[in-house]
Parts: sequence; structure tokens; C-alpha cells
Amino acid sequence: MLYQRSSQLFAEAEKVIPGGVNSPVRAFKAVGGTPIFVKSAKGAYLYDEDGNKFIDYINSWGPMILGHAFQPVVDAVIEKAKLGTSFGMPTELETQIAALAVSMVPNIDKIRFVNSGTEACMSAIRLARGFTKKDKFIKFAGCYHGHSDSFLIQAGSGAVTFGTPNSPGVTAGTAKDTLLAKYNDLDNVAALIEANKNEIAAIIIEPVAGNMGCIPPKKGFLEGLRQLCTDNDILLIFDEVMTGFRLARGGVQELFNIKADIVCFGKVIGGGLPVGAFASRNEIMNHLAPLGPVYQGGTLSGNPLAMAAGLAMLLALDNDRAIFKRLEEKTAYLESGFNKVLKENKVDYTINRIGSMISIHFDANPVVDFQSAAKGDNETFKKFFHGMLQEGIYIAPSSYETWFITDALTYEDLDYTIQAVDTISKKF
Ligand code: PMP
Repeated sequence: MLYQRSSQLFAEAEKVIPGGVNSPVRAFKAVGGTPIFVKSAKGAYLYDEDGNKFIDYINSWGPMILGHAFQPVVDAVIEKAKLGTSFGMPTELETQIAALAVSMVPNIDKIRFVNSGTEACMSAIRLARGFTKKDKFIKFAGCYHGHSDSFLIQAGSGAVTFGTPNSPGVTAGTAKDTLLAKYNDLDNVAALIEANKNEIAAIIIEPVAGNMGCIPPKKGFLEGLRQLCTDNDILLIFDEVMTGFRLARGGVQELFNIKADIVCFGKVIGGGLPVGAFASRNEIMNHLAPLGPVYQGGTLSGNPLAMAAGLAMLLALDNDRAIFKRLEEKTAYLESGFNKVLKENKVDYTINRIGSMISIHFDANPVVDFQSAAKGDNETFKKFFHGMLQEGIYIAPSSYETWFITDALTYEDLDYTIQAVDTISKKF
């Protein structure tokens, strides 16, 4: 593959955009090389500026669960745009998508829309603090909840890929209220709660972690967190920005039958437009302005184009409930194919998968938390990433990311991908 035009475009971009990208995870810094500039995408495929075609396993980092340029979303956005692109006034559309989301997700009465996953998580923490009148919260090392100050403490995803899990610019005053726990370690959480009695407003967690590769919760871990929260008047916040409307119609709450107090959304809920949301029961949501004292707002929140895209996406997921089963089957097919060829080729690896989230760590030990995720062999990952690219397969340019499977993938695509993994891993 040649990336001549991408290289030129990147050189131009670097002059006027820091690192040439508007979000660090897009840079190929961790793997070397030049980011690919996309021209268009349709279904399971990306087309770049040099005319190369790739099978896409990132899908805009999650949103495109039904494939790129999904027709109902495209049509809805075009139709809405003709009627005006932003009003800063209420529209019927906002109530329609809110009602649909509330009907799909367990344990929520009300939902508020924002513009990103970051905003959703940031607002959820503020709401939890305002509701409980406590300041501290617990997050887990390797989990990523967006780039709001209080989350950039041992954060996953791009923050760890680029060596800044604790970003300069976050003050010590802010950091002191973020308590850090180990994923999948209940005793650690219990000890933190004990040491900070009556000071903790919330525990925020990716209920299936996706920002240190994919790490499912151990059996009993989420149930244990629920109990600890209930016993200590702490709100349990599920950051379902990745998992929401992906792992099940009602997200992880439905999948594992566990009640969270506040749920955050992003990615799929916007159908590929900038949308986030946070939701809870009335008692908590009524603390938000204008009903209550906790302030949160946004000029473009509930934007008609974004809401039209999100509504078309949620309707598609609601109307065809077999989608989640199909996604699971396709991802399980990939998993068993990868297992077969990686074992045959004697590679040290661990695959974690749940539903349509899957990742490969190049280390033979179980990957259950940030520490074990960090042991993955980055040199092997680099070879893997560039090998896949050469075969026309686009995966995230970092080993700390999950693959996002889309329903647009055919079994032919999956077989091709397994074959490519075989070819590449023979050369490790
Ligand atoms: N939470 C999780 C679990 C995420 O994966 C992400 C983004 N990858 C965010 C929050 C932040 O979302 P955004 O990038 O839309 O601000």
C-alpha cells in the first residue's frame, strides 16, 4: 500500500494542528508511520486519500455499530439539515430520542443530552457530588472517562498510549478528590472506602473496560461494587460510553442485571454525530438545573442533526433486536479464528472478548487490570498493526484499545481477517 497523499496531507496538517490530529489516538505515534487520511467510508470499509481500501475494525472508535454511512442515519441528517441546523430552543425530536432511550435502558427515568462522552461523565460526577453533598470519587486505573481534569489520573486510552496518564495542567487540588482503585479488585475498593468514610460521592467505572484493551469484569465484581455503594451511600456510575447500545439493547445493566445509579452514554447513541448523554432516576436527575441547583448546559446540546442521527440509530437497534446476537456471533467467530491461528503460530497472547468488544494483548498471562494490560509486548503489536494495514485491515494504532465490530462485516471479511492474522503472526 502507498500512503503518498496521506503523508502530504499529514505534513500540511502538522503545520496548523498540534501533532496533525484533533485527538491524540488518531496519530500513529505509538506504532510509527503516518496517519491515514480518510476520504470516505461505507459499510465495513474505509477508503483513504490514496485510493486504498481497508476493512475497518475501529468504526470511529465505536459509534458505527451498523457500518459507515448507514442509510437511515444519512437520510435523517440530510432531511433535518434542510430545516435548520441549530436553534438553541427545544425541539420535539429531543423528547422522541429521550423517550426511546429511556424505554431501552433499565433503571433510568430521565436523560440529558450533551455533545461528547467527556461531557457526559464530567456532568455525571458533578451531579453525583451535588446529590450526595460529598466531594471525592473513585475511578479505576486504566479506565478512561474523557479528558475532563478530574479523570486524567491514571487514565487509559490515548492518555496512557502517549505516556500521560496523569496530565500536566490538572491541579493537585483537583487530583486529590479522585481516588484510584484497581480494576477487578473489590478488596482494594473496600479499603479505599474505609479510608475515606463518608467522603465518597461516587464510583465511576467502565463496567466492561475498553480503554486498556478489552477487560471484562470478573464474576461478582460489579455485584460487589453495587453492594459497597448501597452500603455506603455512594452512587454507582456506569460509564457506558463504549458499552451502551453495543453489548445489549440496555447496555451492561441489562447484560449483567445490575442497577447503576447514573449511566453515561456516547458513541453509538449519536449515530456518528457528536452526542453524549447521562441518565438516572427522577430523584437524582431532578437535581439538575433548571429544576435543581446542579448546573449543566450546552449551546449545541440536543442539536437537531445530532438528535436525528441518534434517533435513527436507536430506532434501527430497537427494531431489529437480533443485531446484538449477530454482533456477538461475528465477534466470537473472529475470536475462535484468531485463537486457532495464533496457537498454531506459537504466539504469546491473550484475547479478551465480551459481545462485540474484543482485543488481543501480546502476553500470555491473563489481562484483568491495568497492570496486566501494560505487560503486552508493544514491539509485537507494532508489527501486527503495520502487517494488518498492509493486508488492508485497519485496527486501532495502540494496544490499549478495543476492536469494535460492526454488523456490516460479512463472514467473508472475517475469514479474510483471520487469514491475515495467520500470515502476519507467522512472521513475528
Ligand atoms: N468514556 C469512555 C468509556 C470512552 O471510551 C470515551 C471515549 N473513548 C469517553 C468516555 C470520552 O468520550 P468522548 O471522546 O466522546 O469525549
